[in-house]
Amino acid sequence: MRWRTATITGIVRRSPTVSSFFFSTPHHWPFVAGQHVAVRLTAPDGYRAQRSYSIASAPEETGHLELAIERLDDGEVSPFFHDVARVGDEIELSAPLGGYFIWQSADGGPILMIGGGAGIVPFMSMARHRANSGSKAPMVLLFSARTKADLIFGDELAALAGRAEGFHLIATLTRETAPPAGVLSGRIDASMIERALSLLCGLPARTFICGSNPFVENAATRSIDAGIAAGRISTERYGV
Ligand SMILES: Cc1cc2nc3c(=O)[nH]c(=O)nc-3n(C[C@H](O)[C@H](O)[C@H](O)COP(=O)(O)OP(=O)(O)OC[C@H]3O[C@@H](n4cnc5c(N)ncnc54)[C@H](O)[C@@H]3O)c2cc1C
Repeated sequence: MRWRTATITGIVRRSPTVSSFFFSTPHHWPFVAGQHVAVRLTAPDGYRAQRSYSIASAPEETGHLELAIERLDDGEVSPFFHDVARVGDEIELSAPLGGYFIWQSADGGPILMIGGGAGIVPFMSMARHRANSGSKAPMVLLFSARTKADLIFGDELAALAGRAEGFHLIATLTRETAPPAGVLSGRIDASMIERALSLLCGLPARTFICGSNPFVENAATRSIDAGIAAGRISTERYGV
């Protein structure tokens, strides 16, 4: 694996548990929306921990790389970022990785993206890339979060959807008894997939699903039940 040293240039809180970390690197490594990087931390005694993080920024943003990291209380690497890492710190990042869970405007659509929690991160890169490239590919993002506060990038996604240029956002909250207007309630179900398909005016050419293992299992099953061919579904699992 190729590594480079990147400097943290900014930290932005996205929710009570997720923050974006912006990195600058001496040399820009091109990437495709949906790819991830490995982060490698080395302790003074030489102990190393390595984790994968999806790239949230668009490929067109060459000045920096954005990662959005959720804090897992009993985790090893994510608490480091939230509790210890500061602007100016140098971190080792790998070259962009992954050639399967990717989308570029030339691929066209329609595209269905289903994200749970931090599983939304690669879809930020895809949605931003779609907007930057002027793509008109129909794209629906079905975003499941626990509470309103966990709808990371919510304002930016709503603004993209508000342009009425073929990008649609369906948000659902699993732990909010009274969701705000326009936001659904409950886990991903058949009616939500149906709503997404009606916005796409048919079956998607590609479906991307990202989140925890149980989230991906449920969303994939619902998608197949709705008539989407398994071979057109790509999944990315963020651990347990
Ligand atoms: C391709 C890829 C891309 C990823 N992109 C992102 C991203 O953009 N943002 C992000 O926040 N994470 C992402 N992850 C998850 C990330 O790699 C780490 O697994 C996560 O940050 C936990 O690492 P940790 O060292 O803090 O916890 P660990 O020390 O690895 O684990 C601590 C505890 O949490 C459990 N656990 C591990 N991962 C998860 C999880 N995802 N959800 C719930 N419990 C878990 C473990 O079983 C353990 O009990 C991605 C994973 C993959 C494979």
